[in-house]
Amino acid sequence: MPRPLIATIHLDAMQQNLARARACARGAKVWAVVKANAYGHGLERAMRGFAGADGLALVEVDYAVRLRELGWIKPILLLEGFFDASDLLVMAQYGLNGSVHCEEQIAMLATTRLPHAIDVHLKMNTGMNRLGFTPQAIAAAYARLRAMPHIGTITLMTHFANADEAAPTRLSLAQQMLRFEAGAASIGAAGEGPALPRSLCNSAGLLLHHLDSDWVRPGIMLYGGTPSGTSAQAFGLLPSMSLRSSIIGIQDIAAGEVVGYGSRYAAAGNIKVGVVACGYADGYPRHAPAGTPVLVDGVRAGLIGRVSMDMLMVDLSHVPSAKVGSSVTLWGQGMPIDEVALAAGTIGYELMCALAPRVPVNEA
Ligand SMILES: *Cc1c(COP(=O)(O)O)cnc(C)c1O
Repeated sequence: MPRPLIATIHLDAMQQNLARARACARGAKVWAVVKANAYGHGLERAMRGFAGADGLALVEVDYAVRLRELGWIKPILLLEGFFDASDLLVMAQYGLNGSVHCEEQIAMLATTRLPHAIDVHLKMNTGMNRLGFTPQAIAAAYARLRAMPHIGTITLMTHFANADEAAPTRLSLAQQMLRFEAGAASIGAAGEGPALPRSLCNSAGLLLHHLDSDWVRPGIMLYGGTPSGTSAQAFGLLPSMSLRSSIIGIQDIAAGEVVGYGSRYAAAGNIKVGVVACGYADGYPRHAPAGTPVLVDGVRAGLIGRVSMDMLMVDLSHVPSAKVGSSVTLWGQGMPIDEVALAAGTIGYELMCALAPRVPVNEA
């Protein structure tokens, strides 16, 4: 028998979450974001789960090519664009859209002969200060791109820093939108014709704000995770990854006995300790503290002791039915990944993406 740890990807949940995103999108076309191996779900599975999306967006050029080879014929967007001239040739060859976010990329475009035109997302930095041209520089960047014969459509894109917060103290979505509108207007003022198409909104922007856009770019919500403190369930999202294992050993220990490496946990009374076949080498966060919720036989139990490479321990005192072979859900259906992430001081995104290659994956 293989080790009992397995991740199940729920394709129907992915489809339903995509429908949820579409319902929030107010008619905008939807890029389903599939970077990082589709947030750990597998590129090929994401292609099937999100077959109804208008396009797929990611950052890995080789994975974009893989999508074409797998038969994806709708648009593909490279969110970080291209890194050198050879990527540009790949983009032209495979019909990939890419973001253009810096002068260096424009210089590359100016000096590379492309066999086919490529469509680009021109990225504006509206305060995130990660990628993009400032609103002051955007019109000049646009004009240079527009003058190039091998550039097709140009879509204006920006990314929000705090779309998940109701009242951010620093940079609000409204502030970013003001800067975006100023930048967009400066392009119009330069006599460049009708307004450019726009690409706005990650999951948080979509779920919590009502913006008009031509394209939206949801990621985490498609996988049933929440971008904000509100539970994914409250947004009508379904978990698309369940990580399940079994109890593989039980110890009945007396008060004062300690558990695991570093003996960090000492039993206050007599307890039943369950050993679960899942550790940090599987992607479970090593820093998860005592009390992090784990579902055993459908009942909530709490983690105890340090997570080790291949195992973790739970207190089974309140799960009388538990025995070797009992089912365990680390996250997914019945145990929201965001709750586990919160307890471990991280976000559901990181847990999904960290699912280790050694964990077998099936589909339901
Ligand atoms: C990752 C990413 C997204 C998706 O973000 P979520 O919070 O997962 O919805 C959207 N746009 C860009 C530019 C991204 O890098």
